[in-house]
Amino acid sequence: MDFVRSKRLGALPPYLFGEIDRRKRAALAAGRDVINFGIGDPDQPTPKFIIDRLEEAARHAPNHQYPQNKGSARFREAAANWFKRRFDVDLDPDREVLMLIGSKEGLGHIPLATLNPGDGALIPSPGYPVYHSACIFAGGIPHEMPLKASNGWLPDFDAIPPDHAQAAKLMYLNYPNNPTSAVADLDFFERALAFARRHDILIVQDAAYSEITFERPSPSILQLPGGKESAVELYSLSKTFNMTGWRIGFAVGHAEVLAALADVKENLDSGQFTAVQEAAVEALDNADHIEVRALVDLYRERRDVLVDGLNRIGFDVAKPEATFYVWMPVPRGYDSMTFAAKLLDEADVVAIPGVGFGQAGENHVRFALTVPTDRIRQALERLGKLSF
Ligand code: PMP
Repeated sequence: MDFVRSKRLGALPPYLFGEIDRRKRAALAAGRDVINFGIGDPDQPTPKFIIDRLEEAARHAPNHQYPQNKGSARFREAAANWFKRRFDVDLDPDREVLMLIGSKEGLGHIPLATLNPGDGALIPSPGYPVYHSACIFAGGIPHEMPLKASNGWLPDFDAIPPDHAQAAKLMYLNYPNNPTSAVADLDFFERALAFARRHDILIVQDAAYSEITFERPSPSILQLPGGKESAVELYSLSKTFNMTGWRIGFAVGHAEVLAALADVKENLDSGQFTAVQEAAVEALDNADHIEVRALVDLYRERRDVLVDGLNRIGFDVAKPEATFYVWMPVPRGYDSMTFAAKLLDEADVVAIPGVGFGQAGENHVRFALTVPTDRIRQALERLGKLSF
């Protein structure tokens, strides 16, 4: 049936996590005790004060109707207020904040709002696979910017071929970064803005992990002069408040770009349940609540147990400064796929092969810290018995 799948879908890169997925399912079906570091989804519940607010808001009948598409005024104000407190940047809640049904939704729709068929887009590799697919869906042409350990996992703007810089209309950045866990500082964002201005490129900075940092807070590109003229930034409540299933986030920055994105969304979705938005207001207004701060402490503890343990076994892993991922170089003689397969086959431990995030992710695996500490210790015990 030729008519079932569009050429657009056929143009997506192959799903490289498939092989590990298959082996994982086989292991589970065989009754093996699999320790899964694969999923980037918090294992802990949403803080109670947020759930309580949802419960209350769900009983309020006016909330049962179609929500306001670009987000309720209360939600956009709460987002702007949070942003002001966090970054000391003023945002106009009407023009410079747009509610998203999770940041993935915004990342996926931005190319439809800003690219014409044939336009280029610069995307980081390794990177969150959505950037690539979103460009393809919009008829755009993705050009990879390799991220390298030697450059702190930041793109090297001088190494971008002139024809790619010329063709590009947008550039995705993602700091704190998935999968490498790198954090960018304002100097880097300054260079990114200068590059974007020189080539007339919109920066889409994915800040989904903005609040999961262990050493220093992650800055916003909008803190820089001219940031709002060249960039939009996407925030998510998913990781900050353990709300992945609730599907809520927001975009801030360049007002015309947000208006274009809102026009795309107006034609595709009808916003997010107002009760979820009300609960999100409660979360943003109480971002320093003890239950919220405890989440970062938990990831820090798990990070220390896993990284110290891996180094003790003889691996060579740097302690991530942010996110709940540990990005580990694989030992000599393996690539990311063969190493991940070995961990699964011989230790029932799932890690994600780095090549699934793009060719530049080769020779690394990613562990997600969404596993309780006692299970991390158990995994380390098993890994310690393997020979590499
Ligand atoms: N950006 C990155 C880098 C991510 O890893 C994820 C989720 N894993 C998202 C965005 C999407 O998050 P959400 O849609 O839940 O806000």
